[in-house]
Amino acid sequence: MTFLFNSDAKRGAIFAKAFSRELPDIPFATDPAAVDPEAVRYLITWTVPEDLSRYSNLEILFSIGAGVDQFRIDAVPPHVQVVRMVEDGIIRMMQEYVALAVLALHRNLPAYLVRQRGENWQAIAPVQAAERRVGVLGLGMLGTAVLDRLMPFGFPLSGWSRSPHEIEGVRCLNGRNGLDALLGSTDILICLLPLTDETRGLLNAQLFAKLPAGAALVHVGRGPQLDDQALLQALDSGHLSGAVIDVTDPEPLPAGHPFWGHPKILLTPHIASITQPESAAKAVIENIKRHRSGLEPFGLVNRGRGY
Ligand code: NAP
Repeated sequence: MTFLFNSDAKRGAIFAKAFSRELPDIPFATDPAAVDPEAVRYLITWTVPEDLSRYSNLEILFSIGAGVDQFRIDAVPPHVQVVRMVEDGIIRMMQEYVALAVLALHRNLPAYLVRQRGENWQAIAPVQAAERRVGVLGLGMLGTAVLDRLMPFGFPLSGWSRSPHEIEGVRCLNGRNGLDALLGSTDILICLLPLTDETRGLLNAQLFAKLPAGAALVHVGRGPQLDDQALLQALDSGHLSGAVIDVTDPEPLPAGHPFWGHPKILLTPHIASITQPESAAKAVIENIKRHRSGLEPFGLVNRGRGY
């Protein structure tokens, strides 16, 4: 029974140390070429290796990141459990990033950056938090954590998901009608949805048209959920006031792409939230212990839904 770690060496060393302490009976390997493939029961990786079928006794395929859209899940044998990364470090970093982005948009930071460059000492009339409505697409591990972190600022909060949710202090909506209701009453929209067939291209011209004039976007889901041209049009027409974009399609964003120099866009290179090796190793070890005692691992992906 071997655990195969297929990611960068620095993280691997941290995982190896945690495994030797917590699960000393499971051999820990980092070199696929040096391992007996039939012994591999657990594999952690970012993308699914081409030769996955050589691991004929694989029981769990762990994603090193919070999403599994980079996996071709159909190519993973049905008996193998696919588990995404659920760990405190990812949650904390996403809370920080979204708070930063929402406050930057709320306090007109993109516009003030432009004014600074133009030596323009001119204030923009402030809007109070109680009047800035924030809506989150996705009420999963990250969406709910982000809402929790935003709550003390006093923004009216809404959230949207596929199934009904109840969160104190948050207007929770679901389904297509729920989406329209959320969009019509959201000034800062945050996308924290997984990439699936249903969410690909969701942030498009029709969706932007349903937002009130002057609304802004924080995109921390996945690049292919956003129609870049539709966003540029909505920003350039003045319908949307700004956007904070952390994920693009493709990544890295190519040279010359209009997002780079757009005065209403703050762009970051997919750094909103990154798996933290110490807490991630702890989470994976806990999941292996759960699996060994017959319990379902945290973050088990529902193949039918794709997340
Ligand atoms: P999660 O726990 O699986 O939650 C996903 C949420 O999205 C759930 O509330 C789900 O609804 C909702 N959802 C999915 N498909 C939907 C649909 N078609 N219509 C309405 N709601 C839908 O995921 P998570 O851990 O919060 O992560 C969300 C995503 O964040 C990841 O998949 C990844 O793409 C992104 N992410 C980005 C970064 C970054 O650095 N930028 C880092 C980590 C993660 P139900 O609750 O009803 O199932």
